[in-house]
Amino acid sequence: MNPYRNYLLGFSLAGCLQLAACSTQNPVTNETMTTQEQDIAKAPVDVHSFAKPAEAVARHLDLDIAVSFDQKVISGKATYQIENLAKTNQIIFDTRGLKIEQVYLGEEQTPTTFRLGKEKEFLGSPLEVDIQPDTRLVTILYSTTANADALQWLSPQQTAGKKHPFLFTQSQAILARTWIPIQDSPGIRITYSAKVKVPKELMAVMSAENPQQKNTTGEYTFEMRQAIPSYLMALSVGDMVFKPIGKQTGIYAEPATIDAAVYEFAEMDKMLVAAEKLYGKYRWDRYDLLVLPPSFPFGGMENPRLTFVTPTVLAKDRSLTSLIAHELAHSWSGNLVTNATWDDFWLNEGFTVYFERRIMEELYGKEYADMLNVLGYQDLQNTLEELGPQSEDTRLKLDLEGRNPDEGLTDIAYEKGNAFLQNIERVVGRERFDQFVNEYFQTFAFQSTNTDLFLDFLRKELIQGDEKVAEQINIEGWVYTPGLPENHVKPTSSRFAQVADAYTSWKNGKPAAQLNTKDWSSHEWLHFIRMLPEQMTPQQMADLDKAFGFTNSGNSEVLAAWFIPAIRNNYTSADKAMETFLTNVGRRKFLVPIYKALIATPEGKTKARAIYAKARPNYHAVSTSTLDEMLK
Ligand SMILES: [Zn+2]
Repeated sequence: MNPYRNYLLGFSLAGCLQLAACSTQNPVTNETMTTQEQDIAKAPVDVHSFAKPAEAVARHLDLDIAVSFDQKVISGKATYQIENLAKTNQIIFDTRGLKIEQVYLGEEQTPTTFRLGKEKEFLGSPLEVDIQPDTRLVTILYSTTANADALQWLSPQQTAGKKHPFLFTQSQAILARTWIPIQDSPGIRITYSAKVKVPKELMAVMSAENPQQKNTTGEYTFEMRQAIPSYLMALSVGDMVFKPIGKQTGIYAEPATIDAAVYEFAEMDKMLVAAEKLYGKYRWDRYDLLVLPPSFPFGGMENPRLTFVTPTVLAKDRSLTSLIAHELAHSWSGNLVTNATWDDFWLNEGFTVYFERRIMEELYGKEYADMLNVLGYQDLQNTLEELGPQSEDTRLKLDLEGRNPDEGLTDIAYEKGNAFLQNIERVVGRERFDQFVNEYFQTFAFQSTNTDLFLDFLRKELIQGDEKVAEQINIEGWVYTPGLPENHVKPTSSRFAQVADAYTSWKNGKPAAQLNTKDWSSHEWLHFIRMLPEQMTPQQMADLDKAFGFTNSGNSEVLAAWFIPAIRNNYTSADKAMETFLTNVGRRKFLVPIYKALIATPEGKTKARAIYAKARPNYHAVSTSTLDEMLK
């Protein structure tokens, strides 16, 4: 028997129900508890969902929707197979800005009463549906509104091909409820099937088993047999084509982008092999990428079977593919083992960054992964500085009650999380740590977990009462204390040491064109630009630009980094490129620092507002919600 079964019982509302004999001893009272009692007692509280999964929970969704580009509306029905665990007379779904037309119960579709509760900021309104103790099927007729923040409707002009409109969703963290009425908590998993009707000239894909060719009817069906949390519900509709990379991997993109993408991501199959070698079998059958138009607000979104990815990683030299390693790693950390609440977000992202770097090390060697670690550490230092040394948001375990969970989406979860795991690896050794991580993924596969459960698992499986090890791992210092523990190890990189040498010679007067920058990757360039002093002369800026062509770089990471010193030093030669970049690219990670640098001066602020007025329609709500706040 699995010794961690008592973990699973509480957190897999589904897990035990499939077993014949499920009652077990309560470890505390030694009394026999039924599964349902345990579920209700142990279900994690998610302050960002109205659902009460311990009472009545959805197991499977059958989605039947039509996508109208004319009206910018998705409408149809969501039919749920539910389990009424507590034999209650109500099941609650999350909604935000949805129009609910009607709700039916059972196969026979008997109309039932329902109400939308009071709307709360970020969270939307609970949809309370009256059910019977034996209700198994609930069908909700609905349509989306202009407030569907998950959806971005792009005009043909906003696509690479310029001929057809495009739609994509971004459900994480709590935006699934803006396009589907759903129990929108990462602690609840469902399987789904879907029928999606789109204009005939377009194709639809989802986080599911996907078509590889456009059909003539515009009607597509999907099946997702592995249970997923709601934030991984995803849909995209547009003029797209598919090309395979390996047997199990391939790429969807607009026809205008597909070849560049196939070149850029040619190594995704090798990444999959490396990932499986590290942490066990890939559990989702296919792994494909969908390259989106540039307004996609994130680098990538790990929608299962079909990662959504920004075209800003198409650098033409495969130098920004660690992003793909990252999204692939989520197939284990996040999609397979999922943070139960957004307060535990570091479990998703910290593990994924750690895993991403391990995949990159496997493929390109330790020196390559070291560069990524140093850049990540720089990002972490900047975030720590921004949030302040005592900020509670710099702890790994967050408290986001009453706030938009998006606020927890900082480098703390990613890079401090990664640093914590690297610290554990250092203490116990790589071999033992890998065994532990493997066991962690196996034990919690298709389950949700939270910080306490992970730490319990860590104590039992790895620390095993060894006080010296416990002290070195320092759970309290990493997880519950702001900032970084004093004895944390700062990462170093030998390749960056060469960059530093070049930088020093340049600062001492050597012309940029004479620096030895042969074979530098995006990462070396990024590091070099980040080293530049706050104050530079117009000659220095021009010298660098002339030698290295930063302003005209086709590499978005390099461009985005270069605009910062350009703004600071009023290097107006970069203005036009910057404006083009800001009006084309919607990736929040790039936008925020550039706008921030701009608004630091009164003239910059005027410039920023003028650009933003023009660019805003190109951004997804995830980006505008951050930028509106900054630029108001
Ligand atoms: Zn991630």
